[in-house]
Amino acid sequence: TASLLAYCRPGFEGECAQELAARDAGVGGSGFARATRGSGFVEFVTDHTEALAGAWQDLVFARQLLRVLGSARDLPARDRLGVLLPIIEAEHANGMPQRWCDAWVESPDSDATRELAPLCRGLNAALIAALKKKQLIDRGSRWRLHLCLTATDAAFAAAANIDETAPWPGGIPRLKFPRAAPSRSTLKLEEALLVLLDDDERERWLKSGMRAVDLGASPGGWTWQLVARSLHVIAVDNGPMDATLLASGLVDHLRADGFRYRPQKPVDWLVCDMVEQPRRVAELIAQWLAQGWCRYAIFNLKLPMKKRHDEVQLCLTILRDALADAGRRVELRAKQLYHDREEITVFARVA
Ligand code: SAM
Repeated sequence: TASLLAYCRPGFEGECAQELAARDAGVGGSGFARATRGSGFVEFVTDHTEALAGAWQDLVFARQLLRVLGSARDLPARDRLGVLLPIIEAEHANGMPQRWCDAWVESPDSDATRELAPLCRGLNAALIAALKKKQLIDRGSRWRLHLCLTATDAAFAAAANIDETAPWPGGIPRLKFPRAAPSRSTLKLEEALLVLLDDDERERWLKSGMRAVDLGASPGGWTWQLVARSLHVIAVDNGPMDATLLASGLVDHLRADGFRYRPQKPVDWLVCDMVEQPRRVAELIAQWLAQGWCRYAIFNLKLPMKKRHDEVQLCLTILRDALADAGRRVELRAKQLYHDREEITVFARVA
């Protein structure tokens, strides 16, 4: 048996494992997870790595999904690569690539491993140098090599097909807070647009002059992202909106209840960051899409409850069923983003 390595938000290892197990069962597998709460990663052992390895985009709680080549403990501090390189090279017989377009040394996103960052950087330089010397770097390869340090003396070696995995180290896009934005949550929508849409979709689906509604918009972090892309925004919230944002001339602020507000004419986008029960939000978004009030939606589902995986599935089912009842099909993409805490972010569109 082989295994997969998934990165997740620390504390959500259980949800991540549940999701992988459900996928595995779907292809007839009965794999199991090795996970420690708070570690920021899950190792999932299964006979179906090939069938599951491409699932990164469909997994809500996994930021990244890698194929494990091997792992090692008790690494000698003076020569970690001396132990890891043979593991990487030994895999050649098992259908894994021989050469790599790049190599990343990373560590999970947990309190315990944060201090490994300098070690990762040093090791990364040494790894690339060693691979080059062995002529194992080939910029045309579709495969990237990952070393995941889980402690100073423990690591996984893993492989990623670059066409089906997250293109950011640790599965986390590094975003800089735009100083003019009115709130930190602006990064959540920016990350959502980056992770849930591809370059081509962002260009086609987010055009200057399009119209959007932002439910729960105050103070305006999400609205700011839309205005930055020259969309007109109706910002619905009883709270205040940032004055500079209002001065852009692209924002209409409506002091109203986001659950009651209805647009006078259909808009392109609905975004929603109201703190509410996830089922209520799912029902509201489903109504907007089913009625044709918007074409695209990005919204947050807050998950303060215990059974978070089940709650997410229930909310996605609410959306699918409501659209099916309206004779439409909805495309859903959901992810717990780096900027999401006890919540996930969903993109939906009528297909
Ligand atoms: N996305 C915003 C940003 O980037 O600045 C932050 C939104 S904040 C997390 C949630 C907002 O939802 C609050 O401003 C609150 O007033 C608003 N809200 C909660 N329930 C609402 C409702 N029923 N109707 C309208 N706004 C609501």
